[in-house]
Amino acid sequence: MNSAYHRRVAFPSELGNSTTRQLLDQTPALIIPLGATEQHGPHLPLDTDTRIATAVSSAVAGLLPGDWLIAPAIGYGASGEHEGFPGTVSIGTAALRELLVEFGRSACNWASRLVFVNGHGGNLDAVAEATTLLRVEGRDAAWSPCSVAGADAHAGHTETSVLLHISPNDVRIDERVPGNAAPLAELMPRLRHGGVAAVSPVGVLGDPTTASAAEGARIFTEMVETCARRIAAWTPNNRGMLE
Ligand SMILES: [Zn+2]
Repeated sequence: MNSAYHRRVAFPSELGNSTTRQLLDQTPALIIPLGATEQHGPHLPLDTDTRIATAVSSAVAGLLPGDWLIAPAIGYGASGEHEGFPGTVSIGTAALRELLVEFGRSACNWASRLVFVNGHGGNLDAVAEATTLLRVEGRDAAWSPCSVAGADAHAGHTETSVLLHISPNDVRIDERVPGNAAPLAELMPRLRHGGVAAVSPVGVLGDPTTASAAEGARIFTEMVETCARRIAAWTPNNRGMLE
């Protein structure tokens, strides 16, 4: 047998760029970035949440002990609240939950455990229900948010700063406008009924005009360190979330 046949893949690495034979006799753990394709104001790309989840996942994998593979991102989610804007593609909570359950059942045939790193708040119900079911079925699945304390809700200071840090060329810096900065709890009744468009015609909840790359670097580091700590501790709560 070719000695390269059992050559170990260099971890952390990417699932999409690996071969089956690199994974033989291995039981890697898997990180799956989970994002969305939805309007993010006039200034941020539609795949903002996917980019953040992917960048956080890559950075986290580099901090964790053991063998971690990063899966290709799941770039569609439950974005019904952003349906009023062209470019948004939402598969909804039920379809996303099914996708995540079947993903987990299949991947756990060879992975030792898996964690969905979620970059979009609208995915919360689906990822919590899916990981809870996978755990009931005996699979070691969990999820972690990319959130930080004090973040604004959507396409505001927080996300715009992080994008200025990780994807500066894709932020339409001159097109930033302040959105509705009222607390999410206050907006929720109108938001539930009419989506983001009903409370912010530009699709921004927060203020992107205060964003900066330096702030983005600080926020991103906090996201990565918090997420890495959750994954290293591996204590899923009763919703499958790592605490
Ligand atoms: Zn977002």
